[in-house]
Amino acid sequence: MPDDQRCLLQLIQKNRLRTYPDSFGPEQDICDISLWLRQKFPLSNARVLVNRHYTQRSREIAGFAVTSAAAQSACLAEMVFEAFLALGYKVQETGGDMYKCPSCSGNHSKHEKLTAYARIESALRARRPRLDS
Ligand SMILES: [Zn+2]
Repeated sequence: MPDDQRCLLQLIQKNRLRTYPDSFGPEQDICDISLWLRQKFPLSNARVLVNRHYTQRSREIAGFAVTSAAAQSACLAEMVFEAFLALGYKVQETGGDMYKCPSCSGNHSKHEKLTAYARIESALRARRPRLDS
């Protein structure tokens, strides 16, 4: 996929890794969770809007919202919360200044979408082993 059509988060991630090769950023996780959610609810056109405090590092976010064309936003938000926890995130609002992360546009290759789906499903399974057996 040419760069100008790619998801903005992927471009941000690419630029960050070019400058700071081993640095962590939440871009891939936001993409994966968004892609996973849209595959579970294809008609929802769901977007995950993540807020972070400027002081937050690693797997920390201040909060998030889910917008969707469907009426089940509250239920989607619950699932997204579980997905963030399954990836090892802490969701914590500390009262400091926040910024909004860009949301995933969904412009990903089919392979990336499948990988995202498998990754989030397996993270959720690992988190709730008893529910699957
Ligand atoms: Zn994306």
